[in-house]
Formats: sequence, C-alpha cells, structure tokens
Amino acid sequence: MPRIFSGIQPSGELHVGNYLGAVKNWVELQRLTPAVFCVVDYHAITAPYEPEVLRARRHEMALGLLAAGIDPDLATLFVQSDVPEHTELAWIFNTVTPLGELERQTQYKEKSARQESVVAGILNYPVLQAADILLYRADQVPVGEDQLQHLELSRVIARRWNAQFGEGFFPEPQGLLTPTRRIMGLDGQAKMSKSMGNTIGMLEAPADIWAKLRPAVTDPKRIKRTDPGTPEVCNIYHLHKAFSPEATVAHVAQQCSTAGWGCIDCKKVLAESIEVELVPIRGRAEALRAEPRRVTDTLASGASKARAIAQETMREVRDRMGFAPGPADVRGIG
Ligand code: SF4
Repeated sequence: MPRIFSGIQPSGELHVGNYLGAVKNWVELQRLTPAVFCVVDYHAITAPYEPEVLRARRHEMALGLLAAGIDPDLATLFVQSDVPEHTELAWIFNTVTPLGELERQTQYKEKSARQESVVAGILNYPVLQAADILLYRADQVPVGEDQLQHLELSRVIARRWNAQFGEGFFPEPQGLLTPTRRIMGLDGQAKMSKSMGNTIGMLEAPADIWAKLRPAVTDPKRIKRTDPGTPEVCNIYHLHKAFSPEATVAHVAQQCSTAGWGCIDCKKVLAESIEVELVPIRGRAEALRAEPRRVTDTLASGASKARAIAQETMREVRDRMGFAPGPADVRGIG
C-alpha cells in the first residue's frame, strides 16, 4: 500500500480553502492507505513570528485537523518540530541539492521579489519539504497544483541521493492532485488565504460566515437582478459545487443563467449547504476545546509513531553516508 505524506503550516484556524483543497481529501485518503500528516512548524518560522502565537496556532491547527475528521487511529498526526530527524535529513539533502534548482523555484522568486532581505530558509524551504516527505519514504503526496514544482524537486533530490548513496532507497514521490482544485477567496480575485483576508473560517459562527458571504464578489457582469449570469465565472457557483448537493448545483446554474433569482437568494442557499457540512466539525472542535489534553496527547503519540519511522530511515541514511548509525543519545552514549 503506498504511504502518503502531507503537511500544513500552523496558520491557526483552518479556513474553507484549506478544508476543501486539502484536509477533506486527507480524511478520505486515511481510510484507504497509510497516511502521515504533519503540522509543519519549522516551515512557519521562515516568516517573522511571535513564539507564543506559534505555540497557540500549532495547537489550533491540530485541533482543527482532528475536528475536520483526521482520525489518529487511522493516520499519524504530529508536529514537525517534535521529530528532529526532519532538520537532520534536510541538512543532508542540502548537500546534494544544486543551488540553481532552488533559485529557479517559482515560490522562491515570488517571495524574494516581495522582500528586501531574504533569509536562507526561504530558499531552502523546498529542501526541508523533501526531507519531510522522504523521511517517511512516502510514495504519494496529496498536493495542490501550486506545489507540483516543489514535489518535482523532491524527486530530483531523491534521485541524486540515491545515485550517490543507495539506488532505490528513497522512492520518487508522486503528486496526488486534490480533487477540488484551487478555492478562490471571497474577493473572487486570489486563492483563499489568510494573508489575503478573503477567507471563511472552518469554525466560524454562521452569522459571521453570512456577514462575509453577503458582500462576496459574484459574476461582475450581473449588475441588475434581471441580468442573466454566467455561473462558471462566479466564485459562489464554485463554492456551491464544493458544498451543495448535485441537484442544488444544477438548480443554481439554471436560476442564475435565466435570472430566475438574485445573488442574495443564491448565497442564502450556499450558506445553508456550508452549515450542513460545518455543523459536525464545529461540534467536534467544541468538544476538543473542552479537553485540550486530548489534542496534546494525540500529538505526543503521533510524534512517537512518526519518530519510530524517521529513526529507522535515518539509521540507514547515516550508515550509507559513513556516519555512526544514530546520534549518541539514540545509541545510549552519554
Ligand atoms: Fe453567482 Fe449565484 Fe449570482 Fe449566479 S446567481 S452570479 S452563481 S451568486
């Protein structure tokens, strides 16, 4: 059975874009195949941050994932910094990664263009990603289209390391494109993202969701209630496709294109569909909030499961590269 690995940054509360674009798919996949899911807090520190905020966001992200349906009996859920082998392998991979490959990464070019001074962690971000995936010798990585280039780099790194130290040791991980493609934000302009301020929170109260949905951008050519619209160009229609039953989606398309209803009518139906999906998630989140130990205990046991796999990989990596099989503490020295 192929092993899958995927990570998510501890950005705090999950939003609907994370949920539809990644986490909902993880919940399905964990029933089909061995799955490792990681809250990647080392990645998060490539941008300025406050330690206390990071701590709170890490907990909130784990709580959100469990509420969304990640089941620790089926999948391994843990925090990246609880498994120090991630950074060890990342350093090793840095020594086989050509600098030019890193400088060519689109995300690096975009991020560095926006900043006056760029930390090396931004350049090396995809090397740590390769370590995250290959530490668990994962065969498949559920990703969005914007991550395919980084995944290609993981394959390059695996190939280079294998060629030098052990043919076939690391698999070349394949992308598993998430069925729900890019979820646009409520501005209809950019991908839903916290930094763009265009999100719907997965745990937000219905009144707050409606306050955001009501003014959300629709088909810009539909100016008057009597103008027929084009559903395919409207983000609200795409959200219907993600949340509403098929019959409702067909009804939306028909009502929109014949000016049978107004955009507010359409959004009210969407708000109801969103509620149906989010009510049980919100309920599970409340239960977890009442017992925060359940989250920390789950992460601790996830970290110990993850670390067992990571140490096995690193024993082999260290041996093939001419190091002692484990650091002194692992070998019981000192
Ligand atoms: Fe969009 Fe619905 Fe308005 Fe059509 S009726 S433009 S799908 S919000």
